[in-house]
Amino acid sequence: MRTAAFLLALAASTAPALAADRPNILFIMSDDHAAHAISAYGSRVNVTPNIDRLAREGMRLDNVFVTNSICTPSRAAILTGQYSHVNGVPVFNRFDSSRQTVAKLLQAGGYHTGMIGKWHLGSDPAGFDEWEILPGQGDYFNPVLYTATGEKRYDGRYVTDVLTDLAIGFLEKRPAGKPFFLMWHHKAPHRNWEPDEAHRRQFENRWIPEPPTFWDTYATRTDALRENRQRVADDMTNNDLKRRPPAGLTGPALVKWLSERPAEVTIERSGAPLTLRGEALARWKYQRYMQDYLATIQSVDDGVGRVLDHLDRAGLARNTIVIYTSDQGFFLGDHGMYDKRFMYEESLRMPFLVRWPAGIEAGGTTRAMALNVDFAPTFLEAAGLPVPPDMQGRSLLPVLRGQTPADWRTSMYYRYYHDPGHHNTAAHYGVRTLTHKLIHYWKRDQWELFDLVNDPMEMSNLYGQPGHERVTADLKAELARLKKALGDRDQFSMELPPDGVDGPVSRLRGK
Ligand code: CA
Repeated sequence: MRTAAFLLALAASTAPALAADRPNILFIMSDDHAAHAISAYGSRVNVTPNIDRLAREGMRLDNVFVTNSICTPSRAAILTGQYSHVNGVPVFNRFDSSRQTVAKLLQAGGYHTGMIGKWHLGSDPAGFDEWEILPGQGDYFNPVLYTATGEKRYDGRYVTDVLTDLAIGFLEKRPAGKPFFLMWHHKAPHRNWEPDEAHRRQFENRWIPEPPTFWDTYATRTDALRENRQRVADDMTNNDLKRRPPAGLTGPALVKWLSERPAEVTIERSGAPLTLRGEALARWKYQRYMQDYLATIQSVDDGVGRVLDHLDRAGLARNTIVIYTSDQGFFLGDHGMYDKRFMYEESLRMPFLVRWPAGIEAGGTTRAMALNVDFAPTFLEAAGLPVPPDMQGRSLLPVLRGQTPADWRTSMYYRYYHDPGHHNTAAHYGVRTLTHKLIHYWKRDQWELFDLVNDPMEMSNLYGQPGHERVTADLKAELARLKKALGDRDQFSMELPPDGVDGPVSRLRGK
């Protein structure tokens, strides 16, 4: 009887695919780590030897794009395999944890599942056998983490090191006889970029080259760029710049001072005070920003190295899919900015390195267009589990195997909603093809068209210029086609849910 019952259960499941050698999946995601701050992607500003190992021993994807370039929505898209207008998280609003997620499906499919680090979805994680998460954004130093049963304090510790220890602990304690799925999400290098002391010193006197578009004047572009408030020159606060507060300042006065954006700064040079303004000050701010941003990344790189070494020692490397990505891109002074949100390349592009010795050849690259909504279907297919039809992405497995299907996508749909919101970034939507990008800032009906082949830095808006009528019409048609195909029927009047994952409401207890 027992055998008969087992066979019946086996027949009812997706048994043929559930081989004993199903791969483990280690999904490493940092927060706001731009691809152009990874040396495997040709960084001009830093070296990341451990993250680079994944490219050398696996594959580098060069065209992975986020569908809504902001933390919480990207995390929801990754979990659900759905765009923001379907998964219910267009802005910083709470994720409904009763929804279907890739974690729940893998857990039900026999995986031991874990979530460690920055979650930022405003509800308790569901579908994980083990989880330990930062509340909201979490803290760089002395972090508190939440578990299913309470809070844990890590006094005297640095967050990236804590999260690395927890990831290794998960790997050590995992049950035998089950593949694992671990989402290991770093807080770094999110603003306000607080490095640990050793890495801070490593970068404190280092000169970081400015990007070619640092002094972009936004000529030919729409109002959206001119009105943005994420400019290195104008919008960095005393807190961002780690300036020492005036002596005696406390309480609300100190808070106010930290949030102020200095228009002049006096530094010491060759033993004498030097007051910086204008261009000199902008250059100084860029150095301060990048030195700290890059120093926080170096801790992440160290941690990745420790975990890869652990996989080697434990004999797990061969059949573990290891991915390194970020929840979106980031401006590293590009177009004069920090932060993300815009559909421009630096913010749109996600790093994506993947190693799986048992399944992917070492050293490959691809320009196939991939999206964050593809991650969930990829994990499910790798696990031998069916991909639910309401997931909107597509498994990347054939791409990773070097067999990109003939009908693979050649365009993608993007939409950013958080307006009014932080940094005064105007709501927009658009389409990117392999060669062009069309963006519509719909509130003022302003458009931008870029030729990505001849103008990869997107400095020249061709919209409305003679000679571009045909490509504009084609892109508008493609944009409308994608919008319809993906079920985004909203004509930009939608009521956005209120933000609710930062600040006090991100305290998950009792919710
Ligand atoms: Ca982010």
